[in-house]
Amino acid sequence: MTDLTIALERWPTVIARILQGESTGLLAVALLYVLFTAVELAMPAEPGQSWSGRLRNLVYMAIFIGAGMSAMALWYAWPRQPGPKPALNHISTAALLPAYVFASDFAYYWYHRAQHRFAGLWAIHELHHADAELNVTTSYRTYWLEAPVQAIVVAAPVSIALGAPVAAFALTSLLFSRTILLFAHSNLRLSLGRLTPLLCGPQWHRIHHSRLQQHRDRNFAQVFPIIDIIFGTYYRPAADEFPPTGTPELPSDAPLWQTQIRPLEIWRDLALRRTRSPRQPETDQQILE
Ligand SMILES: [Zn+2]
Ligand SMILES: [Zn+2]
Repeated sequence: MTDLTIALERWPTVIARILQGESTGLLAVALLYVLFTAVELAMPAEPGQSWSGRLRNLVYMAIFIGAGMSAMALWYAWPRQPGPKPALNHISTAALLPAYVFASDFAYYWYHRAQHRFAGLWAIHELHHADAELNVTTSYRTYWLEAPVQAIVVAAPVSIALGAPVAAFALTSLLFSRTILLFAHSNLRLSLGRLTPLLCGPQWHRIHHSRLQQHRDRNFAQVFPIIDIIFGTYYRPAADEFPPTGTPELPSDAPLWQTQIRPLEIWRDLALRRTRSPRQPETDQQILE
């Protein structure tokens, strides 16, 4: 039997296991979407955002869960996995949990930075940045390939380095990271002040989504801004700095079919060596007009 045949045979069981494990995580996401949306309406960074934009993002989330989780399950069903090593039993869960969250954010930082550097990787990240109305629903406005790719380049190295997390532990770290992810995308006029360098907040992450030149390629971490401080990509926003978001190449409301085939077009152009920069420069004047 080939590896592929074995993987395909295990696939349905793995999908069922992932969805079962995800049920708590997805319920938490649903509740936090409602909660953060209510707070967004009370103190928005950008007032008057559309409901159609939020609905569109929920459709992208559904595709991400359906197609993304299926593709990710195929990776986890593959017979020869790199690791996972046995969990590090001699270290207490209380000590391992922060190490796990930090290591995941560290791996994510470099993957995310590479997405902004290389056109081939930007292809699957662009959809997330194209949202001109940044809010909590942008969190999972994500191209479905992110799920399997992050399982391979973020989760796998961490589980090789620190061991596979036990179930309860994995859920705690997942819920923590997701809460921060959703909070960071919320459309809130909220500055974390002195806490800004310690935890990823909505104003700090808005800078990452900004269209303005002075914010480009800044604030890559998903949980700990200290990683950006160490590697020189940190930008601390001024108290009233809430810039416009989106991308010039892909409109926020581009047709769904177009956004789904766009990565394929970018890869085709790269393969044919038609030069394509990941992000076109745009003057601040053009953006603010
Ligand atoms: Zn990004
Ligand atoms: Zn984001």
